[in-house]
Amino acid sequence: MTIPQETEFCIDLHCHSTASDGALPPEEVVNRAADRGVTHLALTDHDTVAGMAAAETSAAARGIALIAGTELSCVWHSKTIHIVGLDFDPADSGFKSALERQNANRWARARAIADKLDRIGVEDLLDKATRCSNGDVPGRPHFARVLVDEGVVTNLAQAFKRHLGQGKPGDVKAFWPELEEVVQWIVDAGGIAVLAHPKKYRLTATKLRSLVADFQRAGGKAMEVSTSGQSSGDLGFLAELCRREKLLASQGSDFHFPGAPWCELGRITKMPDGIEPVWHHFKQPVGLPVQSGA
Ligand code: MN
Ligand code: MN
Ligand code: MN
Repeated sequence: MTIPQETEFCIDLHCHSTASDGALPPEEVVNRAADRGVTHLALTDHDTVAGMAAAETSAAARGIALIAGTELSCVWHSKTIHIVGLDFDPADSGFKSALERQNANRWARARAIADKLDRIGVEDLLDKATRCSNGDVPGRPHFARVLVDEGVVTNLAQAFKRHLGQGKPGDVKAFWPELEEVVQWIVDAGGIAVLAHPKKYRLTATKLRSLVADFQRAGGKAMEVSTSGQSSGDLGFLAELCRREKLLASQGSDFHFPGAPWCELGRITKMPDGIEPVWHHFKQPVGLPVQSGA
């Protein structure tokens, strides 16, 4: 079945605000998207829906459709994988407590990094790193910043080389749940689980097919086919994979901050024809002829 892609819509189903690691507040992300002609937007902040209420208000004011979204971290064969959740019920109590656990996992990792680096002798390292990330959960770059500020090392590269980089004490793996569990959270909240940016994991074609198979077994229904920063070869490869595995196709800019023209809201390479868009399967389908009542 060949379904022509929509031309009258501009659909961006992956972007970030200050609710996670984006540079703009949710309302500004929505305004920027609207200015760039986006008609349907999902704000997919990492492991949170905290930006949704503000985004909702702006979306209503600008007349664009906001689809519930988030981007969840999980592990698959000890690799961190990102799963985008779309069109779920953000008020679902099970989903809300799952997001709280994700947040607790982030803090547990930050504490573990601080403990491992304790022998360096920086007092209140975790507090300082937290201040450095403006009260949010600090990651390795924030710890690196503190080590520079405290004079332990002379620059960020040295902080990674000696203390935080691969194989060093501060290289603490993230405490994420397994892929199956995270997909289930989205399904249980009535949403669609989307495998995010499949080419970003640098898997071989065989490994990627194995990831897709496990994802589908877990209840995953869609994958991103068009994302920023991929080659036309990647796009063709992913479209073919999507077709063969009968997954729904999603697209999104993964916008984080202004000033990177290759990664801008609404700037999305058109997906090849012949794949089924995920938005046809939203609770309020986008781009399908409206069924007229009898
Ligand atoms: Mn991010
Ligand atoms: Mn991601
Ligand atoms: Mn993202």
